[in-house]
Amino acid sequence: MAILRFKALEIVNNRKPVELSIPAERVTSYFGMYVFDKKKMKEFLSPEIFKALIRTIETNQKLDPSLADSVALGMKNWSISLGATHFTHWFQPLTGATAEKHDAFFDIDGDEVLESFKGSALVQQEPDASSFPNGGIRNTFEARGYTAWDPTSPAFIMDTQGGKTLCIPTVFVSYTGEALDNKTPLLKALNLIDDAATAVVQYFDKDVKRVVATLGPEQEYFLVDSALYNSRPDLVMSNRTVFGHAPARGQQLEDHYFASIPPRVQAFMLDFEMEAWRLGIPVRTRHNEVAPAQFECAPTFTEVNLAVDQNSLLMDVMERVAEKHSLRVLLHEKPFAGINGSGKHNNWSLGTDNGKNLLSPGKKPKENLQFLTFFVNTIKAVHEYADLLRASIASAGNDHRLGANEAPPAIISVFIGSQLTTLLDSLEKNSDLIEKGENLYLKLGIDKLPEILLDNTDRNRTSPFAFTGNKFEFRAVGSAANISAPMVVLNTIVAHQLKLFKAEVDVEIEKGVKKEVAIITILRRYIKESKTVLFEGNGYSQEWVDEAAKRGLANVTTTPPALKAYLTPKSRRLFVENGIFNERELEARTEIYFEEYVKKVQIESRVIGDLAINHIIPTAVNYQNKLIVNAKGLKDLGLGEDSYKASLESIKEISERLNIIKSKSEEMVEERKLANNLEPSEEKAVAYCEKVKPYFDLIRYQVDKLELLVDDEDWPLSKYRELLFLR
Ligand code: ADP
Ligand code: MG
Repeated sequence: MAILRFKALEIVNNRKPVELSIPAERVTSYFGMYVFDKKKMKEFLSPEIFKALIRTIETNQKLDPSLADSVALGMKNWSISLGATHFTHWFQPLTGATAEKHDAFFDIDGDEVLESFKGSALVQQEPDASSFPNGGIRNTFEARGYTAWDPTSPAFIMDTQGGKTLCIPTVFVSYTGEALDNKTPLLKALNLIDDAATAVVQYFDKDVKRVVATLGPEQEYFLVDSALYNSRPDLVMSNRTVFGHAPARGQQLEDHYFASIPPRVQAFMLDFEMEAWRLGIPVRTRHNEVAPAQFECAPTFTEVNLAVDQNSLLMDVMERVAEKHSLRVLLHEKPFAGINGSGKHNNWSLGTDNGKNLLSPGKKPKENLQFLTFFVNTIKAVHEYADLLRASIASAGNDHRLGANEAPPAIISVFIGSQLTTLLDSLEKNSDLIEKGENLYLKLGIDKLPEILLDNTDRNRTSPFAFTGNKFEFRAVGSAANISAPMVVLNTIVAHQLKLFKAEVDVEIEKGVKKEVAIITILRRYIKESKTVLFEGNGYSQEWVDEAAKRGLANVTTTPPALKAYLTPKSRRLFVENGIFNERELEARTEIYFEEYVKKVQIESRVIGDLAINHIIPTAVNYQNKLIVNAKGLKDLGLGEDSYKASLESIKEISERLNIIKSKSEEMVEERKLANNLEPSEEKAVAYCEKVKPYFDLIRYQVDKLELLVDDEDWPLSKYRELLFLR
């Protein structure tokens, strides 16, 4: 029975570390070598074209079609000089993954073979994309979708064992112009926050012409040996283990976090880091995470659009490079029960084109008011749209993680640290605004902010949204997610809030109120209005769940109800008025999220059924038969009941557990059938969540007990202790 498992273990025991070819050159000499960045543009484009392209990029414009041929020629020459044979538009459909369709550079003209890449092929393509999720937007008769180049994210060369391909980051829209991807709304949201934040910064600094949202996503992941991975149908099918008893040693010794990295893992890390560096992805940090076999890597932050593309690319690169090392990267939020899951902390801030971080408190009172403005408006935005932030991180995988005592709860709150709590408190309560020339807000203690903040080392790992000195860290994001969705929501709600703020301040100023007084008065009101979302305590505790309920904060623990937040009248207004989604796009997108949830839970349910019925039950029956033979034999020898008591008890226990597994699996299948008949997807998703999924734990509990009972030699599934301790 357990052939696959033992074969896999044998393979693992004979593994030799992969010999890395580490380049002799320094990283600075090959960092970004596969990116068509400014340096290469300058080298491969004429000075006029170069200038025009840079202007296009810096002003967020569409590429002038008359430039396209020349840009394409330069790009082609550059990529061919590095050995590229194909090109592809690289886009992010709503599957959450990335998509590509390769075309060769050559063309045939009469009997001549040419290397060709026209401007039209750079700017726009029409992939036959009828099987990407579209939420009903695209009827089959208009099955066309268009991809169009996003010049703000540089083209790059993907180097795989299948050769080198020039990849052109693109948006993906339907024939009728509706977004079918993750990038389109993100670009819109980033434009929105640029405009809104720039308008507000003008109160403080007239020189600022542009504000850029920045993002540094920390990526957590698990690694397992690929032979063991292949021995577990649940990992192969659903990327998580649906069964498996906790090993004797899990993470209780707390000996894995920041411990030395196993050599085999380190070789893998260096390998994918070097590949990432060639692609210009600035991965810098690596360490062991809390759970055994869990790791993290983090890049230096950059502009959000690029950071999102790079994170998608990084996930690809990691998966590809892992194969070379006979490893599998598990990006799932909860591949193993009983130990920590994985997240993707989204460190987010706003930076000006003159190099200032708007969420970094300054030294002068004026800068501090600027800081407070962006700080308080962000808190207010989170307070107003907590439900949307929750929706933006909802997935079947993340449901296992949020609130599981290891990750932030599903309650959205903001942690700001004790100094800032005191500051906001005094700002809120101190009502006597004294105007003394420039020192208007001296009384509020704002001028003391920089000193106070210098030793701001407050850390609260249990908060879903924490201020960490000069940025917010959205920690509730799942590890497998394409992070556009949370970035679309966060940037949209903050931009929207800044617009409201600006309108309010302007009204006051028009009335003749001094600018600073107007700003402080309004911020003070915002603090009052959004106070309930601030929480400094332990987010993992039951007390917080109770307290949050008293405060009226939502605690939406599963995906289907969380997703509904996208479709409330308030959300519709937000997205439509700000030009991020039209109604149809919003509905289609939400439909896709519901569908995706259904598919994921459906697959898991099938895997559970299959493993339970075809693997676990036969194994346990076989073992039970051995026990029966044993008990019978002992009885026949006349040794008395005591001698076969243990066997008898096990025989009974196995029967009881098998009965439950069988009946629960059958009931689960029945519920699945009922769920499958439901329309629309939202109802189906609710049924999968409330009627089908509860069987998972009931079945698992029995299977995991059997794992402890059945002869280890017979057990078909690689065990947690085998999967989790990489050497
Ligand atoms: P932690 O203690 O949470 O690991 P780090 O200082 O190592 O914090 O930063 C984590 C991530 O935050 C990194 O990716 C880093 O580049 C990013 N980061 C730092 N400053 C900013 C910023 N202004 N905007 C966005 N991300 C930032
Ligand atoms: Mg962090």
